[in-house]
Amino acid sequence: MPRLIPLEEKGSTIAANALSPHGGTLIDRVVPADRGAERIRGLKPIAVRDSIAAECIGIAYGFFSPLEGFMGRADVDAVTTQMRLADGLVWSIPIVLDLSSDEISARGVCVGETFLLTHHGRPLATLDVEEIFAYDLETLARCVYGTTDDAHPGVRRTRAYRDRFVAGRIELVGTPQVAPPFDRFWLTPAQLRERFAENGWRRVVAFQTRNVPHVGHEWLMKGAFFAARADGILANPVIGEKKAGDAIDEAIALTHARLREAGYFTQAVHETSLLLWDMRYAGPREAVLHAIVRKNLGCTHHVFGRDHAGVGDFYDPFAAHRIFDELPDLGIEPVLTQAWSVCELCGPAYAAFCGHEDRRQALSGTRLRKLIADGERPDPSLFRPEVFDAMLDAGERYGAGSPFVDSRYLEHRNPVFTLPAPEPATVAT
Ligand SMILES: [Zn+2]
Repeated sequence: MPRLIPLEEKGSTIAANALSPHGGTLIDRVVPADRGAERIRGLKPIAVRDSIAAECIGIAYGFFSPLEGFMGRADVDAVTTQMRLADGLVWSIPIVLDLSSDEISARGVCVGETFLLTHHGRPLATLDVEEIFAYDLETLARCVYGTTDDAHPGVRRTRAYRDRFVAGRIELVGTPQVAPPFDRFWLTPAQLRERFAENGWRRVVAFQTRNVPHVGHEWLMKGAFFAARADGILANPVIGEKKAGDAIDEAIALTHARLREAGYFTQAVHETSLLLWDMRYAGPREAVLHAIVRKNLGCTHHVFGRDHAGVGDFYDPFAAHRIFDELPDLGIEPVLTQAWSVCELCGPAYAAFCGHEDRRQALSGTRLRKLIADGERPDPSLFRPEVFDAMLDAGERYGAGSPFVDSRYLEHRNPVFTLPAPEPATVAT
């Protein structure tokens, strides 16, 4: 087993950020580029899909510290039933590699051997297979999502797992090449910690987002900055699987950056970086995972608004607030907030401060889509003109004309990342 490097040894700027990663060590399972070819020589390949590739990258760079690979049965069981890893550390959503029995037989996947995970034919990561097992997916869905209703996308995702989980530590052998426009926002946890240290930020509040920001979102971040007595705000869009009607990932990342570029934040207090993650819509359980990941990024606080990571009406809108009461101190403080809107009388209005319910204006995604379809522009008090233009521009460049996900985007979207081609004759077939 490779030695884990304690943070103190990784350079003074990281050590200067006193916030400890989850479990105490920032995981680094990236094989240096000049050793990749040697490391994979002769390994049998196993092709993985986008979401597994993204999770490999997340594990290797420490986004999911303390995970070093895909979970074995003891961890999956403890996470599912107790929201803990087998060693007792809080963890809320299983991170698993699923393969079919047929594929396992065909590829000769067996415990004790090392395989090469590939993504679109390119070397991604080595996998030391430690365990192959079946797991009761109904139990997993019921515990993690609180439902077995197929209307829940996380339940559907769980039921779509192939019939075996393959567990083991991974090592990344291909440095992901992150495509424009995402490349400028791609920072590993170690790099982000360096950035925070350079900025002189000791208290950083994370904002999870999968939306283009309207003025209510902007004030949610501004309010959280004060609530956390923060030095900086990290806008951290989740980049991954999309469903029709979502904003396209390119628009989300670019509009958050534009808020700062247009002067609604200054560089002194605002950063944008990405998280490669497919939303599970697990509500409170996903809130816990978001907290853990942002802790690993070096954030000290995390905003949780109404219906965080929820879907439909599966969760009480404030269940994601209450779940933190049931858990030990995670080392990242939840900033629990109500929504902000814009009121004709108050201006930007925190829900608990504004008594003019009939004078508040909200700008839902549905209304925004209709405005765009009608060739109109939203009121600047509700939606910053610069952000609106950035959203339309992202739609033109990356969304086949629309900043919202449709079937064309799902079929033709540019890959978020690709892996470098292997040196000739290193990959067995
Ligand atoms: Zn008001």
